[in-house]
Amino acid sequence: MCFPFKKLDGELPFPEEKPDYKRNVGNTNLASTIMVFFVKYEVPEKNWDFFNGVRENIQDTEEMLVELDGSLFYLTPDGQVVLIPAGTVSQLRLMKIRPEFTLPGIYGHEFCHPLWDMLTDDEEIEFQTKFNELRLIERSLLKKAWDLKPYMRTTIVEAHADTYRYLGKYMPNELKPYYTMLF
Ligand SMILES: [Zn+2]
Repeated sequence: MCFPFKKLDGELPFPEEKPDYKRNVGNTNLASTIMVFFVKYEVPEKNWDFFNGVRENIQDTEEMLVELDGSLFYLTPDGQVVLIPAGTVSQLRLMKIRPEFTLPGIYGHEFCHPLWDMLTDDEEIEFQTKFNELRLIERSLLKKAWDLKPYMRTTIVEAHADTYRYLGKYMPNELKPYYTMLF
């Protein structure tokens, strides 16, 4: 089988990036890797402070706190250890990320999670309704991402995050109000 997956992925505005295995906790400057994300995804400068992890302590949940974690894992309900690139506890606005994965697309995905948490219940339902209509439109970028990226199809929260990750500003305008700090 020779399915041209990479070529199709490359048709998305922000295709998946390769991890950089030369990065480790000792040689990775978190702030500069976040800056690469801000520039690539054109995040409004007035919101940089919210995302850039300068918060002093974990109790202060006004802003995001980003930490490097060289051995990040997730324990499944049946006790399996699964290594993960990054994870965010939305309520604490705390994000952990493995140094190899300090990449714009990973930040883009994770930064959406606290924003989703800030939506009202009605807004979440509105987003879901609009999303489920828009993803059916033939030859749209959103349909392409939906078809190519199985993780988008796991939950609406992951669909919200991956829509930004793969489409950025090229997502449908109707969805942008649900990513307030990023546009
Ligand atoms: Zn996620």
